[in-house]
Amino acid sequence: MLTNSKTIGIVLPCYNEEAVLLNSFNLLQEKIYSLIKLKLISDKSFLCFVDDGSKDKTWDLIQKIADNNTVRGIKLSTNFGHQNALVAGLLTMKSEADCLISLDVDLQDDIDVLDEMIRLYNKGNLIVSGVRDNRDNDTFFKKITAQFFYKLMIFMKVKTIYNHADFRLVDSRVLTEFERFNEVSLFLRGIFPLLGFQTANVYYTRKNREAGETKYPLRKMLSFAWNGITSFSTAPLKLIFSLGIVMFFMSIFIGFWVVFASINGQVIKGWASSLLLNLLFAGINMISLGVIGEYIGKIYQEVKHRPRYIIEKVI
Ligand code: UDP
Ligand code: MG
Repeated sequence: MLTNSKTIGIVLPCYNEEAVLLNSFNLLQEKIYSLIKLKLISDKSFLCFVDDGSKDKTWDLIQKIADNNTVRGIKLSTNFGHQNALVAGLLTMKSEADCLISLDVDLQDDIDVLDEMIRLYNKGNLIVSGVRDNRDNDTFFKKITAQFFYKLMIFMKVKTIYNHADFRLVDSRVLTEFERFNEVSLFLRGIFPLLGFQTANVYYTRKNREAGETKYPLRKMLSFAWNGITSFSTAPLKLIFSLGIVMFFMSIFIGFWVVFASINGQVIKGWASSLLLNLLFAGINMISLGVIGEYIGKIYQEVKHRPRYIIEKVI
């Protein structure tokens, strides 16, 4: 009867999410049942909660709901971060479903577009990305910084989808290819566009978090953005090179000016100007070294190639 409807798995990374978990589970279970009824998905479809080393009751709750046969649980040994938790879920579950959907457990992303995502998948799109149609719900600061970030990525020629985060459907064959990307510093929304395949977008309005608080405070958000830039673009290094060239020509120009001034007998007292120049060059040098250091640090991490996550238990 359900021969051609596909099995989907929804992967939900959870870090200290006791406040939202049960409510999200109820809503998602209802959603899955309704999709099964519509024959959009098979009755083997499931939810997979990945506990990313939570310190609250998240895992207890996952164990409780995992009695239900639509629920799987993965417990990571400690907190590995959102991106790694997601990959743990995707790679562990990829053989059990035709496609997997990644979704934040706070359900800020609208689960009513799941129908359309699956329809687009059935039409042959192997990656379907959820894209926010506006940022009206964001704080002014988040809106400005996020827009700046996406534009910067485009400017540096990194392939990303504007206003798309990690709400996405991916076919399991695509995940097999994804598995060959071994990088330790993960920035998933940069990797999936690199994979190719037939893709589509669905548009939705992101809601505010109903309970609990964001696990991405400003510091984490900035470091995530910086990771995105340095993992996919060497533009900052090129910028340093260009800056060096500009400085070089500037100093030749200044050199001529100094010679000219001294020939003309204008005595230059100017310790102030030379000090200023010194400071400027020292500053630029330090910044440049810092940027290069960031990349070297990244190489260091990639060379060690430590595991991205450690799974303690699967239920
Ligand atoms: N998350 C995680 N590990 C972390 C941080 C976050 O698994 O170290 C999960 C979190 O539980 C949520 C998702 O990642 O399901 C997105 O986090 P959050 O909603 O706090 O981010 P925001 O929506 O505020 O950007
Ligand atoms: Mg959220």
